[in-house]
Amino acid sequence: MNVLRFSDLCDEGRARGRRVFIRADLNVPQDEAGNITEDTRIRASVPCIQLALAGGAAVRVTSHLGRPTEGVFRPEASLAPVAKRLSELLGRPVPLKQDWVAGVDIQPGEVVLLENCRLNKGEKKNDPVLARKMAALCDIFVHDAFGTAHRAEASTYGIAQYAKIACAGPLLAAEIDAITKALANPRRPLVAIVAGSKVSTKLTILQALAAKVDQMVVGGGIANTFLLAAGMPIGKSLAEPGLVGQARSVIEAMKARGAEVPIPTDVVVAKTFAADAPATVKAAADVAPDDLILDIGPQTARKLARQLKAAGTIVWNGPVGVFEFDAFAHGTETIARAIAESDAFSIAGGGDTLAAIAKYGIEKDVGYISTGGGAFLEMLEGKTLPALEILAQRASG
Ligand code: ADP
Ligand code: MG
Repeated sequence: MNVLRFSDLCDEGRARGRRVFIRADLNVPQDEAGNITEDTRIRASVPCIQLALAGGAAVRVTSHLGRPTEGVFRPEASLAPVAKRLSELLGRPVPLKQDWVAGVDIQPGEVVLLENCRLNKGEKKNDPVLARKMAALCDIFVHDAFGTAHRAEASTYGIAQYAKIACAGPLLAAEIDAITKALANPRRPLVAIVAGSKVSTKLTILQALAAKVDQMVVGGGIANTFLLAAGMPIGKSLAEPGLVGQARSVIEAMKARGAEVPIPTDVVVAKTFAADAPATVKAAADVAPDDLILDIGPQTARKLARQLKAAGTIVWNGPVGVFEFDAFAHGTETIARAIAESDAFSIAGGGDTLAAIAKYGIEKDVGYISTGGGAFLEMLEGKTLPALEILAQRASG
């Protein structure tokens, strides 16, 4: 995907003395008192801001936080805690500006945070009047909020349409590069793990990847639906019988290309869905009518681990079992460790997948961890994200 890159503009000295507007994703989780409980997104946004400051720009940064009602300010919607954390990370003051659409006064070498952009009327609907006003605040618009790239809003789309220059920030560029490296021209074999709770939420991904990957590892509730498609017993396990036909067509599409969907040969079952439910390992063929399959079995996990270690590229979305319960976490842990130990280029994304990566502490051993939940999944589906589409359009026009 051909987009202008902010790092290139900075290298060419084109940000010096310019008004730069960065759309970041600083939408962090907070506790009831407003304390930030997890600051990954703020830390991920720092390199772009530093690049702009080092490049001699006057830097405006904004983000959404939560889902406030447009036009209605409530303290919990404020980016104030984010401004504080950002200022600690940058080692300099980061003033927070309210009512900024009409303009803020700052000098090159300074940075300000513009209050929650979702408080502006017209943000969600990508209102052209609001977008033009925001575009007028800058010489260069930098999109660095991959997590929002699948939505066309005023601060993610309209502003890119109307700004003098619109480009991708380093985080957005890294996301594009990693996903392109994994899917456009991957080192083979390319192995995808598509797991998690439901086929319905991942059906388009399964179908899109079925045309590309050499092995598609299914796990979790998704594997249960595939087991059903293969005529295996699944007892009372989470599955979507209505999607058995779709699962079968994925298996057929893969087979026709000489690729495969390895279906679990053994599983871990329980009689109830609970952290303390006794866990039993069984052959997949022996699942009883009152069993719940809550994880892949050790034999299946070992076989998958071998395949992952031999892979050239790995794409991972979704835990293969109920990893929140330790007794049913072994499959996900084995997969996570195999990915960490593999020489393959690996890319992972998804809310629960990131939680699993953090649980096993393998962050540093994954090639790339996507910061975008929905945006990452849509990229895997092969969709062109609106925010990227407009940046590409601006780069070519
Ligand atoms: P992600 O957020 O990474 O995209 P999903 O939201 O699709 O992943 O799926 C994660 C959830 O799936 C986890 O909460 C996990 O407990 C659940 N899950 C995994 N395997 C099973 C299973 N066999 N039965 C029920 N739920 C499962
Ligand atoms: Mg999830």
